[in-house]
Amino acid sequence: MIKMNIYAEKKGKKMSYDFENKKINANVRTGELFQIHGMQDYYLGVTFRYHAKTWNGCVPIKSKYQGTDIPRTYEDVKEWVLQCYTELDPGRNDVWQNEQRHYWENRQAFDTQAVFDALNGNDVMTKWQCRKCGPVPQANPQPAARIKKLRESGYYIATMKKDCPTCGKKEFYDLLIRLPRKAADNEKRFSISTSLQNKIKNVLPLKDACFDSPQTASELVIDHKFPSSRWVNGETVNETNMSEEEIKKKFQLLTNQTNLQKERYCKKCVSEGIRGDFFGIKWFYEGDEQWRGSSKADENGCIGCCWYDLIEWKNQFNKYLKEKE
Ligand SMILES: [Zn+2]
Ligand SMILES: [Zn+2]
Repeated sequence: MIKMNIYAEKKGKKMSYDFENKKINANVRTGELFQIHGMQDYYLGVTFRYHAKTWNGCVPIKSKYQGTDIPRTYEDVKEWVLQCYTELDPGRNDVWQNEQRHYWENRQAFDTQAVFDALNGNDVMTKWQCRKCGPVPQANPQPAARIKKLRESGYYIATMKKDCPTCGKKEFYDLLIRLPRKAADNEKRFSISTSLQNKIKNVLPLKDACFDSPQTASELVIDHKFPSSRWVNGETVNETNMSEEEIKKKFQLLTNQTNLQKERYCKKCVSEGIRGDFFGIKWFYEGDEQWRGSSKADENGCIGCCWYDLIEWKNQFNKYLKEKE
């Protein structure tokens, strides 16, 4: 499915998705998916209505610097668009502006801040701004590098060519989207479609892989065996039609509590190079306490650690005990 999209995009043909040009509810409509010029990022046009005000903007679907990657299914996009609608409510603007003031206060990045202020404007909702005749070039005649910096600091900024009535031709327009700032090194958003989530919970036993306790599907969280704290390129692709084999290889089910426990062990391992033990049991089915991957993101370094694959670790431990008899 993904391959087909890339193919279609390369040939310049416009693929359409079932989440485009839809009326989600009386106040929320979607437009078209578009690619950000010169980037692999994709945004979806939206029209949000709030009381008397209407915002003709867009929301990120795939945005590298923030680690945002929404599965391209109607269900997933709808859920995300509605979440954005709530976040972008003009009633929340004061809170958002306060957070940004706080953020800029502690920085000495005046050039970047000037471009941010220009994009942000003074209205309760942001507007598309022409990069040739709008407030942005007045703040900085070479704004591209500043906009990149803003994106890297976690701001969502869409760029597209639009007809500018003042310039009389197509120019680049930028739109700042007042979603919570999200730097990519923060927790990454896992892109697992709802239907794949259901499939995973059908394929894997409904048990906490750590304590072996039976749980309901809603009590379990999908854990990537290879911890996200070691990812450098964000999430790998999770195709909705992923095979059972792949699911078993890639994921395990945990409760929220045991997932947090694992995260603590993994973060410690990333910073200190000492792999986690099983609540004090220092046994590894491959290697030892030392993490010996070839680089931070080498999954092989995790093999043998209980937190990487709890079920496999227990199987191997039982085998080891049996051999000892
Ligand atoms: Zn213009
Ligand atoms: Zn995980």
